[in-house]
Amino acid sequence: MSLKSLGRAVFFLAASALPGLAMHPAAPVRPSRERPLTPVIIDPGHGGIDWGAVVKGVKEKDLALIFARKLKTRLLRNADLPVVLTREGDTYVRLDDRMIDSVDRNGSIFVSLHLDKITGKKATGTVVYSFGPDRKNSSRRLSHPSVPPMPAPPKGQASESERLAQAFTQTLRADGFEAETAKSDYYVLKNPAQPSVLIELGFLNNPEEAAKLSDPSYQDKMVESLAKTIENYATKQALRSTAAAEEPRGFNL
Ligand SMILES: [Zn+2]
Repeated sequence: MSLKSLGRAVFFLAASALPGLAMHPAAPVRPSRERPLTPVIIDPGHGGIDWGAVVKGVKEKDLALIFARKLKTRLLRNADLPVVLTREGDTYVRLDDRMIDSVDRNGSIFVSLHLDKITGKKATGTVVYSFGPDRKNSSRRLSHPSVPPMPAPPKGQASESERLAQAFTQTLRADGFEAETAKSDYYVLKNPAQPSVLIELGFLNNPEEAAKLSDPSYQDKMVESLAKTIENYATKQALRSTAAAEEPRGFNL
């Protein structure tokens, strides 16, 4: 058994047996004043042999990577905020490996970036998904035969993910974008270790929207909006961990 498959086996054993607890054999790194923030995990959807949606030659996997790289560059302007991409290039990464990697790195949040396509409909806007029953599109949710099934995330984790999804849509709207939240049972939204959202940045089957999404200045504007939400969230997280560190420990009589 390779190290990778051993790690995967341990992960799924832990994920199914101990929801809500640390999911990896490595000791989790706790935020402290010396290490105030844990990495933001940005997950560019698809990659390599998996192209995702393709409309008139525009591939979802390429645009998702462009947005992810821009978001990383933008976030790294803040030297205290580490950022990790689940893929740096046009490579295929299994869904479970994306999640295991994010747990391994003790990510603070998991943000998966995608572009949508709905056949026969002209849809617009950004949709930010968090885990929950998908009433509208349950028939769309394909199972992933190549990866082991994941249980639903712990309730507290799902609520935190929903709050994060709302924070993204509020900022996007304030910045002039059309945005809404939705629930889905996408694989990566079952991440047991971090608040996780999947953002469909826009619809490639809408020609005007596809043109905007391919425009570097529009990408920058949207990336700025996403970055603001992540920075706000990270700041709150740091404040929480500082407050926790300041709580008295033991007795000082
Ligand atoms: Zn996708």
